[in-house]
Amino acid sequence: MNASARARAEGATRTCAGCREAFPQDALVRLAIVPEAPWLVPDAKGRLGGRGVWVRPRRECIERAARKGGFARALKRKVTIDPDGLADLLVAQLEERLRSLVLGAQRGRHLVVGHDAVQESVHRGRARLLWVAEDAGRRDDLEERAARLDQACLVWGTREFIGDLLGREQVAVVAVEDEGLARALVRVAEQLGGLRAGSPSRHKEARGESPATPEDRKPA
Ligand SMILES: [Zn+2]
Repeated sequence: MNASARARAEGATRTCAGCREAFPQDALVRLAIVPEAPWLVPDAKGRLGGRGVWVRPRRECIERAARKGGFARALKRKVTIDPDGLADLLVAQLEERLRSLVLGAQRGRHLVVGHDAVQESVHRGRARLLWVAEDAGRRDDLEERAARLDQACLVWGTREFIGDLLGREQVAVVAVEDEGLARALVRVAEQLGGLRAGSPSRHKEARGESPATPEDRKPA
């Protein structure tokens, strides 16, 4: 178990360099500090050593940290950080992480694909997570069944996207039979969902905090 996994298990909290609010470490991503440009390198796997800074994987938090000194404080120097470039890098790294998680899961035979096989997996109590495509037929049925079985359900990606990840044509539903992997998938999907502009998600976009006027926040 690496340091970041250990901290997760211990329920550590970290402060977002953008909004300065404390979150469970799980909800944030680590950026490792490097001694030259680009100064900050996303560390989605938590494997890079040295000093780092934590930020919520949201465009507005990265932007705020870049513009309002959150990153400069961590770096102890005034440098220009391009928030969009950094967010794009983070998206690329998270997508890579997703691919490697899925690939590892396939190799370990922890993924079950197709309606009938998934049904069987659920029936046998082996499924830890139902991963359902946004454009899956009978999607409501699947979500409802997951809820009834008190089972985690992740609605994310199109059939084509999931199929592409799995090296298949189109995939509407996947059962994930490994607990740790199920958790990791949900985490990466959440982080990616917050970074992709206009990303499809079953959750409506979080309240409209306009990027143009980040200070105009409604009173709590
Ligand atoms: Zn934040």
